Amino acid sequence: MIGPRIEEAARRLGEAPAYLYDLPALDEHAASVRAALDGVELYYAVKANPDPELLRVLAGHVDGFEVSSGGEHAHVAALFPGKPLALGGPGKTDAELRLPCHRLHVESPNELRRLLATGREADVLLRVNPDLPVEGAALTMSGPFGMDEAGVAECLPLFGRRVRLRGLHSHLASGLDAPALLALARRLLDGEHAEVNLGGGMAVSYAAPRERFDWAEYGRGLAALNRGGRTLRVEPGRSLTAYCGYYVTRVVDVKRVRGKAYAVLLGGTHHLRTPVTKGHDQPFGVLPTGSGPGLDGEPVTLVGQLCTPKDVFARDVVTSARVGDTVVFAMAGAYAWNISHHDFLMHAKPAFHYLRL
Ligand SMILES: *Cc1c(COP(=O)(O)O)cnc(C)c1O
Repeated sequence: MIGPRIEEAARRLGEAPAYLYDLPALDEHAASVRAALDGVELYYAVKANPDPELLRVLAGHVDGFEVSSGGEHAHVAALFPGKPLALGGPGKTDAELRLPCHRLHVESPNELRRLLATGREADVLLRVNPDLPVEGAALTMSGPFGMDEAGVAECLPLFGRRVRLRGLHSHLASGLDAPALLALARRLLDGEHAEVNLGGGMAVSYAAPRERFDWAEYGRGLAALNRGGRTLRVEPGRSLTAYCGYYVTRVVDVKRVRGKAYAVLLGGTHHLRTPVTKGHDQPFGVLPTGSGPGLDGEPVTLVGQLCTPKDVFARDVVTSARVGDTVVFAMAGAYAWNISHHDFLMHAKPAFHYLRL
């Protein structure tokens, strides 16, 4: 689970808890994704992880960034002036609708009317919410996102010289494999639109970290579908940055309570909320740096320092753990630190370290 380079870096950190980002690994991964998607524009969905160090690495590989708020827009525009931005997200304010961007993803007919009322020029993709089955997806984005056929029909007559319709955008679900995403592409490329953004949501398996989304299959499939030479764009988040992040911490206590074994770790899910929101065991490795009391070879639940039973990283995982051991959680590079409730209990914030290019 934890390779020798990360193990060595985690041993050298000293302080815990800390985030450790493997920038060379991110660079290599982004380059391979870029290479697999020949002829397809690649944007990064910044909400997965807006850390500037990661964005700097990604900027060398992506055609642009997808931002979902005025805050993300300001952050990315300041870091990469002139880099194309696609602005999306439900419930945009009038101020957000005025922000300069390469593409604006409009979520509803009323939002389009408010955009027109600003008087600005804009190149728009309509976000559609197609009725495609998304079996096996981790999180489907039906519900309020985008619009159905009736919403699109209501928008079409409103476009004009200043606010131009460029095409369609859709972000179907989180956790899709290449065939599911190709089914979406088939549907959206059915129409006449010059430009189609197929969103993100490429599957990341926390249960089987070595299983990776098949970028080569997706790229070949998109190339085969797009014979008409239209502009195709994707905007993955999680599948680009999840693998490069690690949360490194230490065992501070071990105990048995009513027959169950626990290892209490410094920090908690207020630093790494991912296992709580996704309901999974966060993949991890234990480095035997400790010499205190231990648990060995029995099912152990790894918990943090928060005063809530929800503060669980992994349940009943068979492992050895001693007080002082280093625990390295993997796949902590997306929807991890930036979605966590940092101020709950007012514990110290983690340190941030980067393996550099
Ligand atoms: C969240 C989101 C993405 C990225 O999704 P991932 O699952 O992180 O790949 C892309 N586009 C839109 C519109 C989103 O909301």
